[in-house]
Amino acid sequence: MSELPPPTIEEFYRQCADRKLMAVRCVRCKHIMVPPRAICPKCRSSRVEWVQLGTQGKLVTYTIVHVSPPQFKHMTPYAVGIVEMEEGVKLPSIIRTSRLESLKIGMELEVDFSPKSQETSWPHWPRYFFKETE
Ligand SMILES: [Zn+2]
Repeated sequence: MSELPPPTIEEFYRQCADRKLMAVRCVRCKHIMVPPRAICPKCRSSRVEWVQLGTQGKLVTYTIVHVSPPQFKHMTPYAVGIVEMEEGVKLPSIIRTSRLESLKIGMELEVDFSPKSQETSWPHWPRYFFKETE
């Protein structure tokens, strides 16, 4: 057994608190999983390892949210989207921008992290988000 923490969503958020975007990779077929899973959905292997993702991704699709859950009301309208990382994994995320109209499919985004939130379930858009690169 390795010293690495188990592939759990709690550990994923713990890493976010350290400003690291982590994924779990299947040792056998290299499939990358976010949120982390203990068993690879592609090859059923249970040999998985933590890997740190890069900081940049591309906007695949997005939508503007005008009616939000109560905890995000102060942010409306805001964008949520899917960001594809260089590693090929796609992440749901809030996309922060000062100008929603400047968002474009395919644009480069970079990850950033919010201060602690109470949310622990997936997907609740906590702790990490993407923003325009500077
Ligand atoms: Zn696999």
